[in-house]
Amino acid sequence: MFRIFVPLAGECATQVSEPPKISFSMKESNARFADTGITISELGTHFVVHCPKCAGKSLVHTFEEGHRLVCTACFHVEMPGHWYGEMRAFVAVKCRECHAPLHRNAKTDGVWKKLAVHCDQCGDDCEYDAHISRYPRNDGRVADPIYGLPLWLQKEFRGDVFWCYNYEQLEVLYGYIGAKLRERGIAPRNSIRKNSSMLNRLPSFLKAAGNRGPLLKLMDGLRLK
Ligand SMILES: [Zn+2]
Ligand SMILES: [Zn+2]
Repeated sequence: MFRIFVPLAGECATQVSEPPKISFSMKESNARFADTGITISELGTHFVVHCPKCAGKSLVHTFEEGHRLVCTACFHVEMPGHWYGEMRAFVAVKCRECHAPLHRNAKTDGVWKKLAVHCDQCGDDCEYDAHISRYPRNDGRVADPIYGLPLWLQKEFRGDVFWCYNYEQLEVLYGYIGAKLRERGIAPRNSIRKNSSMLNRLPSFLKAAGNRGPLLKLMDGLRLK
């Protein structure tokens, strides 16, 4: 089982039509890296995914009216509508018999909208109406939030999964992970510090000094993909 870092719910800005303005300062390979405070929302406006027809590289772009997928390999074009990813069923109720709070979260096909829940307190078994939601995973891989198709830029790394929505996000992470001065705790001037910054929310395996070399090698591979 891999641990996967996921942007918090609601962070994927699907309404933004302008491409993100990305700026980060990198001078040569060992320069400092200035976190401009860019968020997953700003980077998650477009996606590189596997085509639903041929599994080739497809681009999901944002337009005024929504999104559109275009495959660079077979030229398949698809508007949003069908969700290819996983679905989750969630129940949070009080037991019908003893009123103890019950919670259950399970994978579902999205067709059956009830979830069986066992009450540990009184032993009652009952099916409750479940809240069904899309889950950005596809056959165990991290998926985009619009179509649920596996992201093109992802790779297993030491029990975790490194993934990016697009090449711009990959470059930001490359600059961050590649910067040497960051590890000496030098706060770059003029940087915007805020909790929503993607770089403030990175999982620890991306920040570990010992992982830097292998991660850069992994990212070099993804840059050419
Ligand atoms: Zn295709
Ligand atoms: Zn009960």
